[in-house]
Formats: sequence, C-alpha cells, structure tokens
Amino acid sequence: MLRRLSTPRKNLISAAPTSGLCLALASIGSFSVTNIVSKSWDMLRLITRGGPALCNVAVTNACNAACDFCNFARGKVGAANLRWIDAGQFARSLNILRKRDIRYISFFGGEPLLHSRLADMIAMVVERDMGPALITNGWLLASQVEKLAAAGLKTILD
Ligand code: SF4
Repeated sequence: MLRRLSTPRKNLISAAPTSGLCLALASIGSFSVTNIVSKSWDMLRLITRGGPALCNVAVTNACNAACDFCNFARGKVGAANLRWIDAGQFARSLNILRKRDIRYISFFGGEPLLHSRLADMIAMVVERDMGPALITNGWLLASQVEKLAAAGLKTILD
C-alpha cells in the first residue's frame, strides 16, 4: 500500500531505474517558480538518459517483527551481526548518488524505523533535492510520523 502524508512540509545499497515521467510529476511540490523550472529541466534531462533513478537503502538488518519467511525477523539475526548504516557516510554517499542521476531514495530494512537517525537521513535526502520514501511494517509509525513529516517525508509504503 502506498500512503502520502497529508501535511507536506517544508555497504547496503542497490539502485534501479524508475518510471521517470511519473516520478518527475510527483516530485514537483510547493517550490518557487525558479525551483520548479530548474527541477523540471533536471527531470527532463534525466529522462533522456534513462532516469531519474531510484536507490533502495537498507538502513539496518534489525526488525521488530517476526515474519516466518524472513531472515531479518526478530531473533534471527544475532546481536553481534546487527548493522546500522552510518548517517555521516550516508550523506557522503548521497552526494555521489546524485551525481549518478539518483533522485529518489527508498528507505527499508529490516525495519527502518528502528534506526535512530532515520529522520536525519530523510532530511539529508530532501536537502539535496531528492525524494525520500519509506517502506515500513508500521509498528512504530504512529510515534514517529510527525518527526518524519517534519524532515520532509511524504511517501510511505507498508
Ligand atoms: S517486517 Fe519485513 S523485514 Fe521485518 S520480519 Fe517481516 S518481512 Fe522481514
């Protein structure tokens, strides 16, 4: 299911091309005319190159759910093997990804809401004029949704 938040505000990585026109249109929010023109031009340029592209980022392999079929389920990954991506390194990676035509970042896990810096990483994506999305099991969403929306998140899939 895809949800859009109703109050728009202001080494575990994989990338795949997306439907450029659809995402380009969805990405034009409440910006100035100059920004809209600049962003539209960027999207049109990327479409001719096969993009813009989406990068899926697994921020952790920890999860609070216990789905039988999943290797990330609670208790299946030992404490010594739990991983959390570093937010500072993520910021540096974003700069490279943007130069490589990535304009959309999808956060998942494990369960991404368990990562203490998720809102910060969402803000980093928005600061670079990229679009963030969140794939979550939703258990912790109610307690974090305001913070995530304030960071700039507008799209949630569960
Ligand atoms: S919620 Fe997702 S990551 Fe967590 S155990 Fe279920 S399938 Fe795996």
